This record gives sequence, C-alpha cells and structure tokens, in this order.
Amino acid sequence: MNSAYHRRVVFPRELGNSTSRQLHNESPALVVPVGSTEQHGPHLPLDTDTRIASAVADALVTRLRAREDSRWLTAPAIGYGASGEHEGFAGTVSIGTAVLAELLVEFARSACQWAGRLVFVNGHGGNVAALRKAVALLRYEGRDAAWCPCTASNADAHAGHTETSVLLHISPDLVRQDDWLPGNGAPLSQLMPEMLRGGVAAVSSLGVLGDPTTATAEEGRRIFAEMVDACVLRVSRWAPDREGMLI
Ligand SMILES: [Zn+2]
Repeated sequence: MNSAYHRRVVFPRELGNSTSRQLHNESPALVVPVGSTEQHGPHLPLDTDTRIASAVADALVTRLRAREDSRWLTAPAIGYGASGEHEGFAGTVSIGTAVLAELLVEFARSACQWAGRLVFVNGHGGNVAALRKAVALLRYEGRDAAWCPCTASNADAHAGHTETSVLLHISPDLVRQDDWLPGNGAPLSQLMPEMLRGGVAAVSSLGVLGDPTTATAEEGRRIFAEMVDACVLRVSRWAPDREGMLI
C-alpha cells in the first residue's frame, strides 16, 4: 500500500474520536462549529443554531476531504454563545460576547499548537462581534485562523421560515409543527431599536422573528445546500478580511 493512499484512508474526520497519534505530524486543518443554546420559539429546539453549524461543518468537511491529500476534520461544537437578546425565555443560556471571545481565543491558541489551520463555522448572528474580536487577535498573533458564517439569501431573522426549513431537512423529528405560529415579520433593521432595549421578548412574545408556517423540508434542503456551497467557496478561497471573516 503506498503511503499517500494509506494516509488518506486513515486520516480521521472527527476530532473527538481520533487519537493523538493520528494527528501527530499531519498538520490537520480544523473546522469548529459555533452555535448557541437559546429559545427558538415554541416549535424549534434550543440547540437549533448549534445543529445547523454542526451539519454545515460536517458537509463542508466532506466536500473538502474529497480533494487530494486533504487534512480537514471537525471539532465538537461550541454549543454556547452570546444570546443576551434571548434572555427572559426559559432554556436560554448566554455566556456573552466578552467570554465567548475569550473562549474562542484560548481554544484556537491551544488547537493551533498542532493544527495548521482553523476555521470557526458560525450558526448564530449574535456571536459575530465575539468572532470578529477573537479572530482578529488570533491572526495578529500569527495564527492561521478564520471564521465563516452560515448564510442564505433572503433569510429571515429567527426561528422563522429559514431556520425551520433547515431543521425540517436535518432534524425533522425535532420540529413541532403543531406549535408553530407566525412571529414578528418586520425587518430586523426596524425591530433593532426596541430589541436593543428589551431583547426579542419586546418585539415577539413567541420569540419568533419571521414566519415558520411556510417552512418545508424541500426549502430546507435548498437553503442548507446554499449554506454549504458558500462555506466551501469561502474556505477554498481562504481570503480572510481584516477581522478574519472568509469572504
Ligand atoms: Zn437560530
């Protein structure tokens, strides 16, 4: 068996079930999903953002590994984020922007002692300030770190058509269709002033921004593919902006 073939077969695709020896001297490239634990209306699970980031990261790694000599693997997700705007709804656990930024910095400083490259795949808009701050610092320190959002065109803001469709595609058993109701459909820019004062609860007692009742699994498949394609493109191009976001 030639050694290139051997390496390609055994190089692990998940950090959690790898051994240290499998990663030693291999210069792995690590994909780290970053999500949240926060209310997603009456019909979606608290870990919706983490699920989406993890599924996108997994599909991203599958695509990247289809290439010759790829060393990409996924890390277990960081399942808590900056979710202050969802305080007041039972189940939400927010660690805030400052602590999340510090967590991301320490995570990458440690991981980059053996990983040659690292990308955070983000599933929650509230984490963006922490990602920008953390990854800008990591890059200043000389680490080859970056971050990539899970974006879709015409996405609504929270637990609406977009996220509900994606969950119908990746975790259909967890979508409670009997409980879904339209939330506040106003554009985010219009809701922002009130949300900054009183969080999501001030603009939607349901905790929903958008309309989940139009969601379908087929739409979810399309939106999910768009998210994965965009991440594959960004990671392949590897052109971080000044705050480390892959463009
Ligand atoms: Zn979400």
